[in-house]
Amino acid sequence: MTTLNGANGTSSSPALKVVIVGAGIGGLSAAIALRKEGHDVHIVEQSAFAHEAGAAIHLAPNANGVLRRLGIFAESFGANTMDKLVEYTFSGEQQRSLDLSESNKQWQHPWHLAHRIDLHNALKAAATNSIGNGSARLQTSSVVTGVDPASGTVTLKDGTHIQGDLIVGADGVHSITRKAVPGGNIRPFGAGKSAFRFLVPRKLAENDAVTQKFVQNDGELVIWYANDRRIVMYPTSNNTYLNFVCIHPDEETEEQSGENWDQAGDLNLLLKVYSNFDPAVLRLLSKAESGSIKIWKLLDMDIIPNLASERLALLGDAAHPFLPHQGQGAGVAIEDAAALAVVLPLGTRPDEVGERLKLYQDIRMERANRIQEHSRLAGRDRSEQVKIDMYGFTNFNFGHDEYDNA
Ligand code: FAD
Repeated sequence: MTTLNGANGTSSSPALKVVIVGAGIGGLSAAIALRKEGHDVHIVEQSAFAHEAGAAIHLAPNANGVLRRLGIFAESFGANTMDKLVEYTFSGEQQRSLDLSESNKQWQHPWHLAHRIDLHNALKAAATNSIGNGSARLQTSSVVTGVDPASGTVTLKDGTHIQGDLIVGADGVHSITRKAVPGGNIRPFGAGKSAFRFLVPRKLAENDAVTQKFVQNDGELVIWYANDRRIVMYPTSNNTYLNFVCIHPDEETEEQSGENWDQAGDLNLLLKVYSNFDPAVLRLLSKAESGSIKIWKLLDMDIIPNLASERLALLGDAAHPFLPHQGQGAGVAIEDAAALAVVLPLGTRPDEVGERLKLYQDIRMERANRIQEHSRLAGRDRSEQVKIDMYGFTNFNFGHDEYDNA
């Protein structure tokens, strides 16, 4: 049994030396969970985190169940509980209105609508603050160029090597660690759709006689559907902002869509792509906060045959890039992170890591793939839609917290 010291040199417990590639939602969650076990965690992140990007993100009950256990309470950074769901046709006819306040009671944890930057900041603070006997080390502005699962070596662009008993590949949709698992030399592909994302200050919608009807209630998620495009709106940041995700066929915005999260989009193009929607909705769109419009291509990927190899485990988008139609990308990454910590308790010997990662793969593979498939179905055009519960309320027990019973 090894007796490595914790990151602060304060622990004498047997601990694994863990190197996490990527300090996104999944990587930071894994850092917190593995630190809580007492492992020695070093996170390597390419970004300097100088200009954070991102708009809102769903934290369904499955995500919140894990986050709460990690000490992260999304309501403390302005997340709204999703209480109501309203659907319209593109021309503004209301199709259904669901009060979720009763059905929410079936979940053990709330369904939150949060701002990604707030969530990211909370995770970063929790990962790098002292937990028990030491914090994780976060090394930013460091691009990882390769990993060796056999020796546990992570190589940086500047030629530095970092050695670990375990490498966690949490480097997102354009992962380079993915290539190091058998069958992982696959690339995400365009799903045929792009999305505009932006924020509208809620006050602007409230103060306009035409648009105020859309912001009568807190915690309301609204969708306007045409056959091949849709506009999704929900509140975030203590109801001070309305987050918009507008999804349409790729070819309509080919000149602007990119594969990066911070690709700037254009208001005129947005209004053109959705020009046949209800004029009141277009009026809402035109209130987009200056500079907040981003446009991104939705990416999908074939199922990867392995989530782990020797000392390397993949999690989150590196393992299974999610389409956004179920709001489960962050949630499944957070679940992955918790599962890793469950299979690698303090006292796990370095020579046991490979076997335990097989267990991790068994636990995560089927669930992640099923939720991913459900997200694909939920994103189909209206004319091709199969009869599913679009929000996973019945198909998946997002509220069931499997770790409660672990
Ligand atoms: P991510 O959260 O994407 O994190 C991956 C991390 O790995 C990033 O910090 C990245 O910089 C780092 N990384 C990548 N390659 C390397 C490398 N070679 N070396 C070192 N570090 C590397 N989802 C939404 O639903 N709404 C949003 O508004 C939204 N905004 C986003 C903004 C940004 C800047 C990013 C990175 C992601 C965003 N996402 C958003 C995606 C969402 O966070 C993920 O889909 C989901 O949370 C899964 O998390 P993940 O940790 O697997 O990946």
